[in-house]
Amino acid sequence: MYLEQLRWPDGFRCPRCGSTDAWQTGRGLWLCRRCRRQTSVTAGTVFDRSRLPLSLWFRAMWQVTNQKNGTSASTVQRLLGLGSYQTAWAWLHKLRRAMVRPGRDRLAGVVEADESDVGGGKPGKRGRGAQGKALVLLAVQLQPGKKIGRIRMRHVPDASGQSLVPALESMVTVGSEIRTDGWRGYNELESKGYRHIVVRRSAEIGEDLLPVCHRVVGLLKRWLLGTHQGAVRHEHLAYYLDEFTFRFNRRTSASRGMLFYRLAQQAVQVVPAPYPKLVAHNP
Ligand SMILES: [Zn+2]
Repeated sequence: MYLEQLRWPDGFRCPRCGSTDAWQTGRGLWLCRRCRRQTSVTAGTVFDRSRLPLSLWFRAMWQVTNQKNGTSASTVQRLLGLGSYQTAWAWLHKLRRAMVRPGRDRLAGVVEADESDVGGGKPGKRGRGAQGKALVLLAVQLQPGKKIGRIRMRHVPDASGQSLVPALESMVTVGSEIRTDGWRGYNELESKGYRHIVVRRSAEIGEDLLPVCHRVVGLLKRWLLGTHQGAVRHEHLAYYLDEFTFRFNRRTSASRGMLFYRLAQQAVQVVPAPYPKLVAHNP
């Protein structure tokens, strides 16, 4: 079975005791000989306790990965004939949680970082959080020839150093060069072991992003407005950022074909309970 090969590429392993000695008792069910635990191939995965057939899940994953801009809950509901919008919405959210590889590596080398307001409302003063807007911190790895490499994004509560610097530490390897504007929230980067280059003295928010970040944020905003019609709530924004990042970092033709496989593979990785803790986001 495809799912079993994805989940246990080296053969079954008991999630409780780690033993590889087990009976296969039925459809996707394994009985550990050592501790007698019965394990379903979907237990502890994104598909856990789903009453709907896996084939529908795979179609949803296909929609998410096959469309250049992903898909919305209402489209998935319609295409798969799901009874409720909530189910489609919940599925897409569960899949988004599978788009973050546990322990994924951080950016390295030369990185451009900036923050931008996302969502409705008017631009406001930096560090206070503009009204009705969410603040997104973006880090873009620069490749030779000013090409855009991989990205990382984080929804941060404000633009203070206490928010920005730890977020960058989680996204960029120590020792890397980080280029920012002159905003004081980045002042502590040097003391945290980064080479901090201020490439622009001014420190305004919104329209005046550093060039590479500006391009990526433009794509992000267009995606949020287009595919999701601007309906993303702040408490869910982090997961949408994960989806955007997942797709953006695999945007070359060579890696696009891997999207479906990667998503399926990550969706069945064993996730220790409680589930939401693993994918803890701030805020
Ligand atoms: Zn066991």
